[in-house]
Amino acid sequence: MPAVSVLIDSTSPADPPWIRPRAVYLHVPFCAHKCGYCDFASLAGADHLADRYLDALARELSLALDGPREVHSIFIGGGTPTRLDATQLDRLLALVRRHFRPIDGAEWTVEANPGTLDEQKLDVLADGGVNRISLGAQSFQPSSLEALERKHRPEDVSRAVELIRPRFDRWSLDLIFAAPGSTLDQWQDDLEQAISLGPLHLSCYGLIFEKGTALWKQRHAGLVRAVDEEVEYAMYAHTIDRLTGAGLEQYEISNFARDGHESRHNLVYWANDAYYGFGLGAARYVGGARAVNTRDLPSYLRRLEAGLDPSGPVERLDAESRARETSVLMLRRTAIGIGRREFMDRTGYALDALCGSEIARSVSRGWLEDDGERVRLTRSGVFLADSVMSEML
Ligand code: SF4
Repeated sequence: MPAVSVLIDSTSPADPPWIRPRAVYLHVPFCAHKCGYCDFASLAGADHLADRYLDALARELSLALDGPREVHSIFIGGGTPTRLDATQLDRLLALVRRHFRPIDGAEWTVEANPGTLDEQKLDVLADGGVNRISLGAQSFQPSSLEALERKHRPEDVSRAVELIRPRFDRWSLDLIFAAPGSTLDQWQDDLEQAISLGPLHLSCYGLIFEKGTALWKQRHAGLVRAVDEEVEYAMYAHTIDRLTGAGLEQYEISNFARDGHESRHNLVYWANDAYYGFGLGAARYVGGARAVNTRDLPSYLRRLEAGLDPSGPVERLDAESRARETSVLMLRRTAIGIGRREFMDRTGYALDALCGSEIARSVSRGWLEDDGERVRLTRSGVFLADSVMSEML
């Protein structure tokens, strides 16, 4: 295992955004409880390690960066960052400010869960520079929250929003549809309750039974059943119709926002631009090289305490693979899709030389629309996005 003796970032400020990161992700792994569907680098019952974790994160940042970096977007995710107490949150934000200089108008998001927020923590976040909160509501149905093994109650969501609203202009709700046992009526009610809170951004994901999670094991043991495919389809169709009808544009397959409230941080991922990543299990993409940190907390702590690199092997895609990957990521952006000029600038490849025949086939099937400048998923293509994308890859 190599010591972190070389900077991970040898890019220059003049490099384009797909080489030199303008965005940073920091991971906080602590949670009150491990939810049944959760495949993230998160763990419960480890809060006593939080200060040691912040020490390790500080070490990782100072080993990797030789000075402050200018960024357009900061995202602190988890886990549950707001599981940290107010003093620890303050320390985390100071650490971020020491290593990163947000430009004027930069987006700084922190993920939060209902039931972990109070006025003191939100004041620390707002005073420390955070300007956007992403709240993991997931559902307003007691039965779905129970099926997902979420520990908050439906009323905790509106209580959290009441605390967030006076302090932050920008906030988002995350929802999950197709929880085991849920119905279309319940999902429609979820959306109505979410809309009534007035979010400017909503992320709506269909439940995935990720291998190895508690829900995946329950499904394989016959203890829970996935929602029927047609019902899940109807839930997604209703999501698109209802949210766009409420003035929230679908700008990505699972994301909806009022104009100007799109998640700038996630747009970095969907443009295949570079980003820094620090903390347990965090991925980074710097100077064309990708690496992912260990997901094992004791190993992460030990390695950094010994001055060692917490990341796994570095992967470098060849130019064509990177261009293909860029095409499918851009296709996720349902509103703007792939712009031919932007694609050429970012990859050095003409889109049609790379996947012109696959695009033409999907256009003839009605899955893609092509106006000569941009290629976008159609309404029916959005439901088949995985197939369209795998053809392009
Ligand atoms: S709160 Fe989020 S990160 Fe934590 S266990 Fe639940 S789903 Fe996973």
